Amino acid sequence: MSKTAQFILYNQLREDYLDMSLEHFCYVHHTGKINFLEQELKLNTASKVIDYAGGYNLVESLQKSGKNAEFICAANFFEGMLTFAQKNNISSFIIIKPVENYVFENILKLQKKLKKQNIELEMREDTQSFFISHALFEKQYSKPPVMENFYRYMRKKFEIMVDNDGNPEGGSWNYDSENRSFDKKHQATKLFSGDKNEGLQKAEAFYNFELKIFQPTKREEALLMLNYFVQNHLERFGELEDAMYQNDPYVYHSMLSTSINFGLLSPKEVVLRVANTDTALNNKEGFIRQILGWREYMYHFFQHYKDSMYLRNHFEHEADLPDFFWSQVEKSDMNCLTTTLKQVQDENFSHHIQRLMVIGNFSLLTERDPHELNRWFFEYYTDAFEWVVSPNVLAMSQFSDGGRLATKPYIASANYINKMSDYCKNCSYNYKEKYTEDACPFNYLYWAFVDRNKTAFEGRQPFVISNLKKIDVEKVQELKSKFMKKL
Ligand SMILES: Cc1cc2nc3c(=O)[nH]c(=O)nc-3n(C[C@H](O)[C@H](O)[C@H](O)COP(=O)(O)OP(=O)(O)OC[C@H]3O[C@@H](n4cnc5c(N)ncnc54)[C@H](O)[C@@H]3O)c2cc1C
Ligand code: SF4
Repeated sequence: MSKTAQFILYNQLREDYLDMSLEHFCYVHHTGKINFLEQELKLNTASKVIDYAGGYNLVESLQKSGKNAEFICAANFFEGMLTFAQKNNISSFIIIKPVENYVFENILKLQKKLKKQNIELEMREDTQSFFISHALFEKQYSKPPVMENFYRYMRKKFEIMVDNDGNPEGGSWNYDSENRSFDKKHQATKLFSGDKNEGLQKAEAFYNFELKIFQPTKREEALLMLNYFVQNHLERFGELEDAMYQNDPYVYHSMLSTSINFGLLSPKEVVLRVANTDTALNNKEGFIRQILGWREYMYHFFQHYKDSMYLRNHFEHEADLPDFFWSQVEKSDMNCLTTTLKQVQDENFSHHIQRLMVIGNFSLLTERDPHELNRWFFEYYTDAFEWVVSPNVLAMSQFSDGGRLATKPYIASANYINKMSDYCKNCSYNYKEKYTEDACPFNYLYWAFVDRNKTAFEGRQPFVISNLKKIDVEKVQELKSKFMKKL
């Protein structure tokens, strides 16, 4: 008798992704080489541990509910699926369409290989990972609108924080102006933590590696983490959303991106939970904007431009990342950068402003190859999946698409970093200086960049261009050249 099984992917770690009318389920933990854009993708071990543990735990819960489910470690998906099919007499698989493009391409090849073994593979649409399908997005817009317009459309469509007439709760769509504070008296927050479940223990033993910060690998844990965030951190999320602290990398951030991207939580349930919480509007709106707005927008933006995204390098930056991005972080003597890179190398996480205004800012101002930086982010972060890492790194942070996403390059001098962090007081550089030997590199790099790329600022930021007139351009270019030689 012909039997059908569901093949579960690593980003589909909860039952909502499953066709529970089926009896057979197979999860393959991929242990072999992964290629992304024709080069090996050396994913961090923490991500592999989450993938392993998440799959193991899901399979275990399916077995407990009486299903024939198996967790298989294999060098590739084909091998794992074939083993499962032969053992269980499976003649067809269903799979929920992968959200990562390079994985989707591989699944198409896999489909052909399985066919040669007389095994069918049916692909079904993913209705769980995002609020709306990409087909609907394309129907709605001929090309991605600015994020703010899309976000308002989504608020109205899903009736999130809007009244019956479609007006925003509190009278404003955006509370960003209240969300740019730095509290000097901030006390480090406490991260959510949990016990090591069986899957995690097995995964850590398999890889001989321990997760440095707790990441859920079971749906129940992810729900507890969401609860913890809402009860303990949401009430100050907005205000300190952009702040960076030497001794508190997490501040009031939710730390939920990895769980949402692996499918342990649905973006919709997270947004609804926060929307129904009684807290100040700047927190609620600030958080909902991140998921209903940015997360959703990035996915559709990537899908729309995926064919050209990897071909563009607007500023023609080609320098390799400094070695200290990969190891020996102490070789960097810029405190903001060293602190952030060390955290990423240790914990595979940093928050948004560290990604954008420290790592991204440094890379853009020192003319690093945006595509190498993209690979670096992809390999290091546990929340990195192609559809989200690529548009964030290439379009938002490095402006490599020439402004299809951001209206201007995200760059800043030390003034911004000093305002939003306590890094500068522990740094060997002087954040106030531009021209001295100990001047903060971000200062002269910033002006050297503006000088070199005036057209990127002329329309949107004429005041930047008029301030450039007060700068000793020769001096900043000279300091820049000296600094670049050290990298
Ligand atoms: C250069 C760069 C690279 C990034 N790479 C990734 C990545 O690989 N994976 C990833 O999930 N996010 C990425 N982001 C977005 C953002 O930095 C992370 O989602 C966030 O820091 C995760 O921490 P958190 O869960 O505590 O987020 P919170 O600050 O608590 O925000 C809540 C949620 O909003 C969503 N979100 C916020 N901003 C974005 C955004 N710009 N794009 C997509 N979702 C967003 C995330 O799901 C996040 O969990 C990147 C941003 C930049 C600037
Ligand atoms: S002085 Fe410059 S390099 Fe040092 S922490 Fe501040 S911004 Fe970073």
